[in-house]
Amino acid sequence: MSNRHLQQQSGPGTADNGPVVILGAGLAGLTAARRLAAAGQPVLIIDKGRSVGGRLATRRMGHAVFDHGAQFFTVRTEEFQSEVDEWIDSGVAEVWSRGFGPTPDGHPRYRGTNGMNAIAKHLADRLTDGFDHVTVVARTEANAIINDGQAWAVTYQGPTREPDVTSAVICTAPIPQSLALLRAGATPVDGLQDLQAVRYHRVIAILAALDRSAELPEPGARQQPADRTFTFVADNQAKGISRDPAVTFHLNPNLAASLWDSDDASVLAAIHEELRSYLNGAAVTQIQVKRWRYSGPVTPHPDPCFVVARNPGPVVLAGDAFANSKVEGAFLSGLAAADDVLAYLHSDA
Ligand SMILES: Cc1cc2nc3c(=O)[nH]c(=O)nc-3n(C[C@H](O)[C@H](O)[C@H](O)COP(=O)(O)OP(=O)(O)OC[C@H]3O[C@@H](n4cnc5c(N)ncnc54)[C@H](O)[C@@H]3O)c2cc1C
Repeated sequence: MSNRHLQQQSGPGTADNGPVVILGAGLAGLTAARRLAAAGQPVLIIDKGRSVGGRLATRRMGHAVFDHGAQFFTVRTEEFQSEVDEWIDSGVAEVWSRGFGPTPDGHPRYRGTNGMNAIAKHLADRLTDGFDHVTVVARTEANAIINDGQAWAVTYQGPTREPDVTSAVICTAPIPQSLALLRAGATPVDGLQDLQAVRYHRVIAILAALDRSAELPEPGARQQPADRTFTFVADNQAKGISRDPAVTFHLNPNLAASLWDSDDASVLAAIHEELRSYLNGAAVTQIQVKRWRYSGPVTPHPDPCFVVARNPGPVVLAGDAFANSKVEGAFLSGLAAADDVLAYLHSDA
């Protein structure tokens, strides 16, 4: 790594700090970026995926469109509500239902109007259109966060990108992946045990394109946490995001864990009969299996974000593994991490 970038760095709070590096362009990373950019801070967001969104994931098979990560979200805080109101005003989110069981509880469940991933795309567009000091880079995988003495260096897999040197890093990858980046940079972590104690559910998603509608009852989804095979089944056509019939099945995390090392054909064979029972006689025209090793925390870390280091600047872990979990938790954690970094950059430290 050259020292060229290092020479561009100076103390916190000065105008010529390099951009804050945010690893992960899921909801936590995009939210943190927005908060920092709005405060005038240059930001570089890096994601290893083909595009932004992370677990706000939507996949296409021809005209069949599937949300295959997060299916919907709820709102419990004023802060998130005002963000969601902006999404609704922009046409990227709307109320889907007020409950998926036989007796809806009346609390709104929101969907991405054109799929959950379109919300992330909207946030990324809002960032790059609204601020000229924000850069979003996809298909680039960080492999270490290194303390260089005067700054942090983020290095990448393969020859895709030169290391970025920065005074602050926010890492929003799932905790085991974040810890691997710190370990690779020989960065010690106080509170490691609490972070390692956060376990994740594994989920396998089955995406089935059909020759005709499966006619799942209104609102086109079943949420059944106690079901031993499928905890969520969603008709993406009834949901309003797919032109063609397209059903997403989420396997119970225990079943997903037991089938994790099986190949796709064996997974499909194991759930074949059960899956057919949801189809009302419709035939499957295409089917795919998608695995989520880190779908969500079993028990989140109690804090909204986690400061790994203060010197030579902050390294903060964030994401849905902290405090509230789920979509809203990822949003709130991104805000908390950005506020922590801003407090440091605006201090005399
Ligand atoms: C199957 C499934 C169903 C779900 N259902 C719901 C639901 O119904 N309601 C709900 O509220 N929530 C649900 N969730 C959870 C919700 O999707 C997440 O809480 C939220 O999207 C997490 O956002 P995040 O930004 O914390 O993490 P992510 O979206 O995972 O973002 C992290 C990003 O970091 C990137 N990354 C990781 N490592 C690196 C690296 N080394 N270099 C560069 N980039 C890296 C990843 O590519 C990813 O884009 C579900 C999740 C899954 C998987």
